[in-house]
Amino acid sequence: VDLQARIKAGIRDVPDFPKDGILFKDISTLLLQPALANAILDGLAAQYRDVGIDAIAGIESRGFLFGNALALRLEKPFVLIRKAGKLPAEKITRSYELEYGVAAIEMHRDAVQPGQRVLVHDDLLATGGSAEAAALLLQDAGAHVAGFSFLVELGFLAGRQRLAPIQTDIRSLAA
Ligand code: 5GP
Repeated sequence: VDLQARIKAGIRDVPDFPKDGILFKDISTLLLQPALANAILDGLAAQYRDVGIDAIAGIESRGFLFGNALALRLEKPFVLIRKAGKLPAEKITRSYELEYGVAAIEMHRDAVQPGQRVLVHDDLLATGGSAEAAALLLQDAGAHVAGFSFLVELGFLAGRQRLAPIQTDIRSLAA
């Protein structure tokens, strides 16, 4: 069975979370299967081994799970992109619109160097709002967004179209 089919089978679909009408893709069940989690990491590493990236940035918190593992595998620095108020040292902030209200994410100022080619990683691409904000934060720091990486992409929400003005190299392991 191919990796995409194994990922789809391994994800738990939870109806009406976090609110009525949303079918939440719960990736925590992938982590309960170490053989599958290793195959996912192998798949990510194969996607990015020959792409010239200098660092990987993971979006809190599920983007930390495979993002850091990938960074270790490729022997690249791993950059934390966190919700506002979590990081202790000098940081930069970006606010972005949510369906209702506004959110802010942060990154340590010294986590990337100007000109570095940084891959943005998260577990799931929905509308693209989170990945877009992360990418703009990296650009604020002078980095180049070299690509977007996801385990799963919800195609009907058009996240790809939203991210394309920043970087069209958008890859997912399952759609
Ligand atoms: P977007 O910003 O693309 O609309 O939403 C993606 C962000 O919300 C990601 O950080 C992702 O972790 C989270 N997210 C939204 N919907 C889901 C879902 O169904 N499953 C998971 N695992 N994360 C989701």
